[in-house]
Amino acid sequence: MHVGIAGAGIMGRTLAFSLLERGHQVTLFDRDPVQEGGAAAYAAAGMLAPLAELESAEHDIYRLGRRSLRLWPGLIDRLAADVDYHRLGSLVVAHGADGAGFREFHRRLSNQLPQQERENLCLLQGEALALEEPDLADRFGEALWLKGEAWLDTRKLMTALADYLPGSGARWHATTPVESLAPGVIRTGHEDHCFDVVVDCRGLGARDAIPGLRGVRGEILWLDAPQVRVNRPVRLIHPRYRLYLVPRQGNRYVLGATQIESDDSGPVTVRSSLELLSAAYSLHDGFSEARVVHMEANCRPALDDNRPRLIAGDRLLRINGLFRHGYLLAPALAELATDWLENPNPVDSGHDVLFSFDNEEAHD
Ligand SMILES: Cc1cc2nc3c(=O)[nH]c(=O)nc-3n(C[C@H](O)[C@H](O)[C@H](O)COP(=O)(O)OP(=O)(O)OC[C@H]3O[C@@H](n4cnc5c(N)ncnc54)[C@H](O)[C@@H]3O)c2cc1C
Repeated sequence: MHVGIAGAGIMGRTLAFSLLERGHQVTLFDRDPVQEGGAAAYAAAGMLAPLAELESAEHDIYRLGRRSLRLWPGLIDRLAADVDYHRLGSLVVAHGADGAGFREFHRRLSNQLPQQERENLCLLQGEALALEEPDLADRFGEALWLKGEAWLDTRKLMTALADYLPGSGARWHATTPVESLAPGVIRTGHEDHCFDVVVDCRGLGARDAIPGLRGVRGEILWLDAPQVRVNRPVRLIHPRYRLYLVPRQGNRYVLGATQIESDDSGPVTVRSSLELLSAAYSLHDGFSEARVVHMEANCRPALDDNRPRLIAGDRLLRINGLFRHGYLLAPALAELATDWLENPNPVDSGHDVLFSFDNEEAHD
């Protein structure tokens, strides 16, 4: 098959990778240059956290996320690039006043998890916490360790994919806005590009084609904090925000993220930066002397129920609604999409497909 992909954000790039691995031809189109642009993928913190998300997201997201966690290491090995990928789990902590919220989070997550997977939740107290995260043990008496969760540096990954894909045979039309898609056709400017099948991975750029697609604003800060040593992502339970800290190489931390019902991707607001920075300081005193080296806002592409969709049509597939789970889900969605492209089922046309994920056990 020769597949045309509109949009080279994380979904488009991961799908291109999956198709090339299965021996297909791929041509990507993006309105931005190859190594930079307005994709939400550039703003993402890179948490691969199906357990933590299960507390507020649908079970499908957890199962797809688990599948992705199995796929990421192989994908990263093939890229042969340093993308700062780690799998040490993540921690959830709360200050004393938010203890009830912490216990409720633990309870809800335990209830949501199938019995045999509850061993992935581990309450660390006192010495055990000091062994895993010495810098946090002074301030927090306990933490919930979500084992097996992972994280990566999203910008490094986007760059690594941009280096790998053309080297593996993908054609890439950068700075080429797509005007419209039709069965087997991607239209740019006055040109029609014909393929066996086309896939729409334009994120929020597909609003003209997907009713109800909306933006959910997220803001993040990058901190340079030589006085802090935290080894794995940490979430802070807070009555109003969902805040997390994700370590990067070289004393850097990504602090995120706000979640605001707005498609405004303008600069980070004073209020959001105050809230994020106060949260960081409440986690660790060492953040008082940290430098804010970067601030960024972007919008997550989301549908009404905040679940992703693969929408099948005649020689046209749309993948969208990745919301706050783009990295968590992209490899599993790419795999499902590739399976479907190889064996399209005509009865799926016009419907949302592929959410039963019955084949998970076979893949395991
Ligand atoms: C602050 C923040 C933090 C996040 N943190 C995480 C996280 O920790 N973990 C996680 O899993 N997810 C996270 N996300 C979510 C993740 O970034 C998104 O789910 C993901 O980027 C969506 O992927 P996508 O490929 O569908 O869209 P995008 O990444 O936005 O890519 C869409 C691409 O389509 C291109 N495009 C659009 N219109 C056109 C057109 N007409 N012609 C040509 N090209 C076009 C764009 O230029 C872009 O390159 C976060 C998001 C934000 C904003």
